[in-house]
Amino acid sequence: MTKHTSQTSNNGSIPENAAGGILHIDLDALASNWRSLRDHAGGAETASVVKANAYGIGIEKAVPALSAAGCRTFFVAHLSEAIRARVVAPDATIYVLNGLFSGTCPTYAEFDLRPVLGSSEEIEEWAGFCRAQSEKLKAAIHVDTGMNRLGLTVPQGLTLKDRAELKDFETALLMSHFVSAEESDNPLNAQQIEAFEAIRASLPGIPASLPNSSGIFLRDKPGYDLVRPGYALYGGNPTPSTDNPMRPVVGLEARIVQLRWIEAEHTVGYNGRWLALDKRRIATLSVGYADGYPRSSSARGKSGEELLAGMAIVAGQSCPFAGNVSMDLITIDVTDVPETQVKRSDTVTLIGGQLTIDEVGHRAGTIGYEILTNLGARYARIYRGGEG
Ligand SMILES: *Cc1c(COP(=O)(O)O)cnc(C)c1O
Repeated sequence: MTKHTSQTSNNGSIPENAAGGILHIDLDALASNWRSLRDHAGGAETASVVKANAYGIGIEKAVPALSAAGCRTFFVAHLSEAIRARVVAPDATIYVLNGLFSGTCPTYAEFDLRPVLGSSEEIEEWAGFCRAQSEKLKAAIHVDTGMNRLGLTVPQGLTLKDRAELKDFETALLMSHFVSAEESDNPLNAQQIEAFEAIRASLPGIPASLPNSSGIFLRDKPGYDLVRPGYALYGGNPTPSTDNPMRPVVGLEARIVQLRWIEAEHTVGYNGRWLALDKRRIATLSVGYADGYPRSSSARGKSGEELLAGMAIVAGQSCPFAGNVSMDLITIDVTDVPETQVKRSDTVTLIGGQLTIDEVGHRAGTIGYEILTNLGARYARIYRGGEG
């Protein structure tokens, strides 16, 4: 079961030559990113955030690869994801970030999972369940230091120590979450650290956790006991104002279905939003927004114009999108690629090389996180490395 292999496997998904898009997922790069984050974490335990199907790459593949690298603690968003993680990580510590839904305590106990409690009601329900079981089960408590989204308020956090329910269960982790750690100069970072520090000081002996991926790279980083990277594990840049210290994990190729020359004054795609000013060669790719490739990458304008829109790499050359991204197809302008270097059934790169997930997100007016978590179900998925 723990056979190490550098071979590729496509996980029983669609055969590569039948797939419109081919997703390459490098589990060795994932493991290497985890190790490099651990080396940055200043002695804190390095957990892995594997919510949203491990940011799109597959929870059943990511969790064993991260476990083999040495990761012992995982965070997911949903109870259903926690159960999937439990199947492939029987001994790991697994936290569910999205809080405790009413009536779900027995499921947590059954699968040995830990809720992240974020309100008085959740604390009461978990404490009541533990009393009824006569067992001090483990949970995390989330304090909201600025997001105004999930977690106890700061005043509630400061009075936590006086709550009788804290004796009914084991608070295994006290955590908060950064609002904008990727902006290293944002004064909110220091404000959040200060608020969290005060709460932590009032609850001595409870392990604490604050940094996400970008938080690990803050100059005055609060290491505490555990860090919770997600995006950086999957190759996203945790330091957007400087070079990406992480290795890419995800690559995407799309297959060319057809090539055609179009005449000047012709448009491409739905609603005719892209106009050829001269004779142009268009390649049609078998990937579209139904594969999670954002329609907001559509190129609306004229040939030769610099547009903030999608891009593909064809035979080593950047080729801009032409027209609207359709449900199942994308059209690109390959006029500048020598005609013999691009033909039917070739694949082009949509993610890879200079087309990082951050760049693809930027070109779609979104963030790389959204690109990853929307990676489509129709792609052939080819996993490299990891545990066989
Ligand atoms: C998603 C999430 C993380 C991971 O954040 P990244 O920016 O992906 O590293 C950490 N903590 C919490 C509470 C989260 O929701």
